[in-house]
Amino acid sequence: MRVAFLGPPGAGKGTQARELAHEWGVPHIATGDMLREAMAAGTPLGRAAKAYYDRGELVPDDVIIGMIEERFRQAEASRGFILDGFPRTIPQAEALDRLLKDLGLNLDRVVFFDVGEGELLRRLTGRRLCRACGTPFHLVSAPPAREGVCDRCGGELYQRADDSEATVRNRLQVYERQTAPLLDYYRSRDRLTSVDAAGDMDVIRGRIRRTVEAAR
Ligand code: AMP
Repeated sequence: MRVAFLGPPGAGKGTQARELAHEWGVPHIATGDMLREAMAAGTPLGRAAKAYYDRGELVPDDVIIGMIEERFRQAEASRGFILDGFPRTIPQAEALDRLLKDLGLNLDRVVFFDVGEGELLRRLTGRRLCRACGTPFHLVSAPPAREGVCDRCGGELYQRADDSEATVRNRLQVYERQTAPLLDYYRSRDRLTSVDAAGDMDVIRGRIRRTVEAAR
């Protein structure tokens, strides 16, 4: 199972990738999570990424591609993976093609998460995450049992710095400009499947499961 999840911020890629990676027994490779870890640890990579991240801009391709190459060297990519939030630009997609070719591997499917902008804004600005285990919640649609506390591990919930409304609007524009062209890139290579990603999370997960399992 080698798949990439593509879509605007707030489309639910992380939530679905986390569950499905567990179900399929493959690593969940999320460049946003890797950057947040690097920033929290204060590594040189984290410091280089922070200014871009805080503005909702994309971190430069060479930084991201270097990080992904490193991750592929560690993880056993032949076993499979779910890429979440990578690639996000045409140069990143080309770098991924080269990397997989060198490893003698293919990308089975690119799943596009199709959601309207109003729903994205609602999801992102209401999103809260557990600082300890990363579990996502939503103030309206998936609130925790106790305000500010993770149901799964008791950790503290927080709002991502880039989930404020102004930054979210910028992230959506960045997506349209730099990431949406990947739809044509993968469509023309016969790799793309669109999934209706509005509505109930379990129903959406069923759609993704069917799409990916049919492509194997
Ligand atoms: P995410 O958690 O995927 O929403 O990513 C949060 C932020 O991390 C983005 O707004 C970018 O600043 C940065 N980021 C994550 N993945 C990438 C990528 N593949 N290329 C460039 N920047 C990225």
